[in-house]
Amino acid sequence: RGLGFASITIDTNGYLFNDILEKVTPAEVDAFSFSLDGATARTNDRIRGRGSYAACLAGIRRAREKGFHTSLIYTVSRANLEELPAMGPLLAELGVERFFIQVLGLRGKAAWTGCEPGAEEVLRVSPSEWREQVPAAAEAIARRGARVIYPRVFLHPGEKFECAGLVADNYFVFPNGRVYRCPLCEDFPVHSLIFEDDRLVDAPRLNETAFFRLNIAEGCVMNALIQPGSPSGGGSGGPGHTIACCLLKDEILPPGDRSV
Ligand code: SF4
Repeated sequence: RGLGFASITIDTNGYLFNDILEKVTPAEVDAFSFSLDGATARTNDRIRGRGSYAACLAGIRRAREKGFHTSLIYTVSRANLEELPAMGPLLAELGVERFFIQVLGLRGKAAWTGCEPGAEEVLRVSPSEWREQVPAAAEAIARRGARVIYPRVFLHPGEKFECAGLVADNYFVFPNGRVYRCPLCEDFPVHSLIFEDDRLVDAPRLNETAFFRLNIAEGCVMNALIQPGSPSGGGSGGPGHTIACCLLKDEILPPGDRSV
């Protein structure tokens, strides 16, 4: 906070190691963010490991007791899609204020404990499963009191594709000085900027900015490069769906919430 950051969130798997709740205060930290991949222990623990459901719920309760705001991340796959609607009552009971839905295989991987090679492709939801179930579940969850944020993932027919690397001002800064404009590029040394002597300077080319300008029918170039098996493939050589920029999100506010 002293460095001027406007918002500070601590990501945790729920175990809250190192007595972190005793070392910071709600005045210093805006929220604790937890991860759960199922509304029941059976489903979550199959994905995230035995005991992780109980640890996550206990962690949320402890954080709430200390007066912290909390948020929860849920990575949707075929293993837990049907439990997504049940997250509404659970979030309401826990007092979680923000609920982030992610999609397996595009941005963020689930902590799938028993993952066989190729399992991710089987578990990844199809465009129709996503469109038919996730927005409706998100609406229902928001009605129970949580603010729900989820990625667009698949553009609607005729919807304009835009790459955030070209039209937005996001900077993902890493301790080693690398600065990225695209979160999907973070696993590769293609950062477009570097911190040098407290100044942002352009990184040598080839870097991520070259990818942003490539115009392909599949939409996001980085998704096509690093996730070639993702659901954009439509067979017969042509793309079936245009993949939205991973930074394009929809947000649903709970009733009465007018904040932005
Ligand atoms: S996710 Fe794709 S569309 Fe979004 S900034 Fe990265 S390359 Fe561009």
